[in-house]
Amino acid sequence: MGTEFADKSAEMFKALADGETGTFRSSLRQVFQLSPQVPPAERAALSNEIAPLLSPQDGDLELVADLAVLAGALVEGGVPAGTAGVQVMRMLHSWAGSIDTRREAGGQHSVARRLGLAAKTMLTDAEVRAAVRADEHMLFDLEVAAGRLRWNVGEFHQVARLLMMADAVSALVLDRRSGRGFRVAFDGVWSNFQLHTLLVDALVGAEGRGLEGERPCSGCVAIESGRPQPTHDATEELHEVWSLWDYKGRRIDLTDSPADFPLHAGERVIVLGMKESALESWTPGYHCHDRIRAHLTVRAELPPEETTGLWSRIAMPEGAGDSA
Ligand SMILES: [Zn+2]
Repeated sequence: MGTEFADKSAEMFKALADGETGTFRSSLRQVFQLSPQVPPAERAALSNEIAPLLSPQDGDLELVADLAVLAGALVEGGVPAGTAGVQVMRMLHSWAGSIDTRREAGGQHSVARRLGLAAKTMLTDAEVRAAVRADEHMLFDLEVAAGRLRWNVGEFHQVARLLMMADAVSALVLDRRSGRGFRVAFDGVWSNFQLHTLLVDALVGAEGRGLEGERPCSGCVAIESGRPQPTHDATEELHEVWSLWDYKGRRIDLTDSPADFPLHAGERVIVLGMKESALESWTPGYHCHDRIRAHLTVRAELPPEETTGLWSRIAMPEGAGDSA
C-alpha cells in the first residue's frame, strides 16, 4: 500500500506545482482515502511535506485550503499536528486579515469553511495552541476573526472556543471561605464545569490543599480530564462545590470557558464563592472536548499579605460568601 500512497502523494504535489487543478483534486482524494491504511511514519512524513506549502502566498488558495483539510485529516488519524498545525493557523491568520470577516458568506465548499475545518482540528493539539498563544498578535487577531466568522461559518464556533482555550492557561484562585489564594496553571479546559472539577480535585481535602468540600471520585476526575474510564458508573453525577465569580463581583456561568474570567493586573482571577442552595449537577465528561486532555496544577499558595491585598480590590456581592 505504501507505494501507491507515495505515488499518489507525488502526483498530488506535482499537480499542485503545475497548477493542474483536476489532477490535484483527484490525487488528493486518493491520498486521503489511502491514508488510514499506511503506517503512521509515512503519514507523518506526508504531513511534514505538506507543511511548507501551507501558505496563502504559495500558489492558489483554493488548492492550498484543500491541502490544509488533508493535513487536518492526518491529525484526526493520529499524526501529531506539528509544523503543519502551526502553518494552518498562520495561514488562517493571514487569510482572515485579507478579507472582510463580517461579510464572508462561507458556502459549503468555501475557503473559509475548509480553513475552519482544518483549524478546529489543529487547535486540539496543545503545541499548536501554545504556538498561537506565544504570538500575541496572532491570538488577538484570530479571536476577533473567529468571533465574526462564526455567524456565517459554523466551524468557527469551535475555532473561537478553542482559541479561548489557548488564551486561558493560568489564574489566581481565591477561596472566599478560607481567604486563601493559589496560583494555578492549566491547559485543555473547555468549560467552567471542567475547570470546577479540576479545581476541586486540586484544592479540596487532604489530597488537595485542605479546602472544605466534597471531593469527586478519582474516576470522575479522570473522565473530566479526558481519560475515558469504561468501567466507571455512568449514572454518577458531579456537583457544584462553589459558585464561581470574577474579581468584579459577577457570577461566571459554568457553561462558559476559563477565558471568560477577566484579567486583573495581567492575571485571570477566579473567586470561589460559598455554596449556593441551588446546586448544579452534571454528567462527568459532558462539558469537555472529546479529543483534548485537560490538566490543572497548583503552582503555589499565595503569601497572606498578597491575598489580603487582592481581597481588598475584589468586589463580592451580598450573599456570595460574606461570612468568610
Ligand atoms: Zn465517579
